[in-house]
Amino acid sequence: MSVADALKAYFQRIEPEAEYIEKTHAALGNHGFTRENSIACVGVCRDEISQPLIEAVQHNWGHVFNLSSLAGMFFAGKTGLSAAMHHAPNLDGKARYVFYSFPHIAIDGEGRVGVCAREGRHGESGACGALGVFQKELAEGNVSKAIEVDDVEMSLIRARLLEELPEGKAPDLLELTKVAQRAIQADLEALLAVLIDTSKSDYAVIAGIQVHGPDGNYIAPVAAYVYVDGVKHEL
Ligand SMILES: [Zn+2]
Repeated sequence: MSVADALKAYFQRIEPEAEYIEKTHAALGNHGFTRENSIACVGVCRDEISQPLIEAVQHNWGHVFNLSSLAGMFFAGKTGLSAAMHHAPNLDGKARYVFYSFPHIAIDGEGRVGVCAREGRHGESGACGALGVFQKELAEGNVSKAIEVDDVEMSLIRARLLEELPEGKAPDLLELTKVAQRAIQADLEALLAVLIDTSKSDYAVIAGIQVHGPDGNYIAPVAAYVYVDGVKHEL
């Protein structure tokens, strides 16, 4: 069985990362998006093993506006999004934005969730580390609700994801990652709905989970759509 087939036990669809990003670029080309007339924005975790997704977007689109935070949470907010939008090309009278949004999880060669190896380090490592910390706190019933100024992003992860979790429930890491993915996408979409005038701008949302398999990165797609002249098309 291939690694991709094994990963399908955890996700409905799974595709090699670089190929997936290339496919989204080609699909958006059919809707008038090019590297010359669009701005591409990416939100992934700060983890170094997440960065190949940014490199793939850079390779296809020629640039990246970085919306990343720990766990791939969308904390760039109105100010971050507005900045990206004000940087978009608009010489043909229209601005075009592409948003890639992907929290992440590791799955090793034995199918163990959250486990990965890292080059140059002894033993096993994990991803997402921030979601792993939160999952452990939930399991132990020991979650701080304070905003800690020396740990702002972790505090915000707890605060945001607690809104999505039933009181006293501790999901496993895979389920918590899926909860985070839905929250991140919802937060991004809520702001896009407020900030974007679709009579003047087209935009695409490509969202899912970045999966670190034993032989490289994969994408488990969740949503991929584009608004052109205010009309939604699935990619
Ligand atoms: Zn992470």
